[in-house]
Amino acid sequence: MASQQLDNSVTSPVLEKVNLLGMGEDSLVAYFEELGERKFRARQLLKWIHARGVIDFDQMTDMSKALRQHLSETAEVRLPEVVSRHESADGTIKWLIKTRGGSSVETVFIPEKGRGTLCVSSQIGCTLDCSFCATGKQGFNRDLDAAEIIGQVWIAVRELGTDLAENARAVTNVVLMGMGEPLLNFDNVVEAVNLMMHDCAYGYSKRRVTLSTAGVVPALDRLGDVTDVSLAISLHAPNDALRDQLVPLNRKYPITCLLDSARRYLDKLPDQRRKITVEYTLIDKVNDRPEQARELAALLRNTPCKINLIPFNPFPGSHYRRVGKGAMYRFRDILQEAGYTATIRSTRGEDIAAACGQLAGAVNDRTRRSQRYREARVESRAVKGIEA
Ligand code: SF4
Repeated sequence: MASQQLDNSVTSPVLEKVNLLGMGEDSLVAYFEELGERKFRARQLLKWIHARGVIDFDQMTDMSKALRQHLSETAEVRLPEVVSRHESADGTIKWLIKTRGGSSVETVFIPEKGRGTLCVSSQIGCTLDCSFCATGKQGFNRDLDAAEIIGQVWIAVRELGTDLAENARAVTNVVLMGMGEPLLNFDNVVEAVNLMMHDCAYGYSKRRVTLSTAGVVPALDRLGDVTDVSLAISLHAPNDALRDQLVPLNRKYPITCLLDSARRYLDKLPDQRRKITVEYTLIDKVNDRPEQARELAALLRNTPCKINLIPFNPFPGSHYRRVGKGAMYRFRDILQEAGYTATIRSTRGEDIAAACGQLAGAVNDRTRRSQRYREARVESRAVKGIEA
């Protein structure tokens, strides 16, 4: 009997500890109730981990010693690992963050006058393959879990804080515009976004957290039922023929279908004055002509929105060119004359490949797209007589 017990102890699997980093209040309430603890422990833990940045249970002094001991044995707050950190001449910071399984994603902080925006990734790579985006060319590995998404915020906030009065480069806004399509990773993104806005965690207002989508319409239709985060849509073209080329997802969910869904999202929000942000990457001689600006103005007539114009940022292997300054200002002026708030996003962090559309990380691609892209790139350079 004694030897049988010994055998069991030798072969019994080591239980993996539960990672509490990505759990929102509801998940933590369920977790603590299962332990026989009261609900308020969830809010206590959120404050320790996210508001105070404490991940060692021993330091969580408003919890009993027995509970802390139990947490230390069965749970953990496991952060993603920062592999490298680069800082641009303009103050932009890019972290390369290693995820479970070895791939890496990128997180970027962009300091501006009076605000600091953190651009967070939601997937390792992206399946959507927009033709102007470096991430799309990396292929796809997997969705990030909620801990890996909120972990990017934890890391940046620990370094920079959230209060501009304390640090001129604090994180005041978060945008899900990094690697990946957030609405294809719906549950994890919603859990993380609601943590960003939770008063015991980071406490950002809904106007300071923005989710950007290329237009996954069924998921967008569900989004307003679970969060009231600010919404941006990546439009990039004033008609379906062009958008089909730039954003292949458009063939499944065309522009009118996407704009209808965006308006339904706005209708669900309690504050009826809110607008969506329309993102439009300006590419030389592709979508930057005056008639295209007028077409865009007409298209958006019934959609409460502001328009953010983003000069295309070249990346290795891309065949597009950056918009000319004259075309860019003419495009903006036409939109403004039509009554829109239209702004040009300044290019930041280009010297460290952290600008919009340049994020690539290190994706162990499971789609073979990156390989096909590399082969096509080598082939086209060979045809042009350029060394690969
Ligand atoms: S632009 Fe966004 S949705 Fe399109 S490929 Fe890049 S990361 Fe994916």
